[in-house]
This record gives sequence, C-alpha cells and structure tokens, in this order.
Amino acid sequence: MPGKKILVVEDEANIADIVRSYLQREGFSVSLAADGASALSMLKYRFDLIILDLMLPDMDGEEICRAAREVTDVPIIMLTAKSTEDDRIAGLGLGADDYVVKPFSPRELVARIKAHLRRSSSRSGGDKLSFNSGDLVIDASSMEVFRSGQLVPMTTTEFRLFLGLAEKPHMVFSRLQLINIVQGYDFEGFERVVDAHIKNIRQKLGDNPKEPAYIQTVYGSGYKFIGTADEARG
Ligand code: CA
Repeated sequence: MPGKKILVVEDEANIADIVRSYLQREGFSVSLAADGASALSMLKYRFDLIILDLMLPDMDGEEICRAAREVTDVPIIMLTAKSTEDDRIAGLGLGADDYVVKPFSPRELVARIKAHLRRSSSRSGGDKLSFNSGDLVIDASSMEVFRSGQLVPMTTTEFRLFLGLAEKPHMVFSRLQLINIVQGYDFEGFERVVDAHIKNIRQKLGDNPKEPAYIQTVYGSGYKFIGTADEARG
C-alpha cells in the first residue's frame, strides 16, 4: 500500500524515528507530530491512519483521539506504556481502533497498520444490506450505517464488527470470532475489547441491550444480529 499517509503522534524522538523508518521502508508517507498541539493542527490534513502516543508533554492522547474522531473515521492505533486492560478499553471507548503497548515490535505495529488499512480500503463494492423494513441500512461500500434514515457514524472497527454480525443474521458469534472479524489476526485474547465496541455500537444505534432490535447478547457465548433482512437489496 505505497503512498498511504500516516500521522505518527509521538514525543519520544527515538521511537518516532524507528516507527518512521519502518513505515517509510514499507512505502508509507509519514508525518510526525511531537506534541498534542501540532497533532491537533495537523488533523486538518487527510491521513489514512493515525498512530497516537497516549502520553504527550502537553496533552493526553485521549484528548487528541476525541478531537480526531470529530473530523475523521480513519483507523487510530494507540501507542502506550499504559498496559492494563482497563486502559485499553478506555482508549477503545474513545474511538481508537487498536492498541499497541510499549515496548512493541515495530514489525508487529506494521502488520497491524496493514491489517487496518486493508480493511478500510477493501470493502466489497456496492452492497447494501437492509433490515426491519428499511429501519436499518448498512452500505458496505461506503461503510455507512443508517437507522431510520439517519446516518449513524461509526469507526472503521465498529463498522467491521457490525457488518460481520449483520451479514449472518441469527448466527451466534463468540467474542473470539468477532475479534478475528475486526482484527484479521489474533488479538491477544482481549475479549472484553469486543464488549466495549459492542457497547459503542449499541449506543450509536440507539439499540437497547435489554430489548434489542439488532444486537442480542447470548449469555455465555457472545453476540448475534437479530434484525430481519428485507427481501430486495438496493
Ligand atoms: Ca510519550
């Protein structure tokens, strides 16, 4: 994927340099921001993916993640020394797509970047899924979800997860299967991460977990999509 633009927000110069040289070797075009203020000012440019250090001198990566999500839905990979599972889930709740804990292997980071970029660019063409008499429309090519005609903004990962469920109505997916759908590789078994994404999707859709129209929790197993597919596909 040569030519893809990646913004690396990282204040530690040695880490930024390593990441940049690995990415450039893969043909990516890399922009660096060494603090939060320059990261925010660079958000006006279009990037295909953002790598975001959580601990910056002038502001939290969380703050930048939130600001980035207001202007873009490209994949965001958080880079951090915080390593507890709760920290990961908090980051994902802010709209990050993935989490890499320092010290990390640059090759693993590159593999994850490629997986995320492949997913955001390889949507199958022109396929619209419609459910519950048009109440829910999922456009796989534009990666858009509409509920009652209103656009429901989702991150790439949320969309992937939701589409994976909706493509197989009434099939129960385990958390591990869902991790594989969104990540395309094993995700160190952080199954609660899936719960965090599902929670976000439900909130955005306005789908009540207690009386769901779309995503049902299957206790002890995982989740299933319970919408009824409309006959004609538009
Ligand atoms: Ca840092």
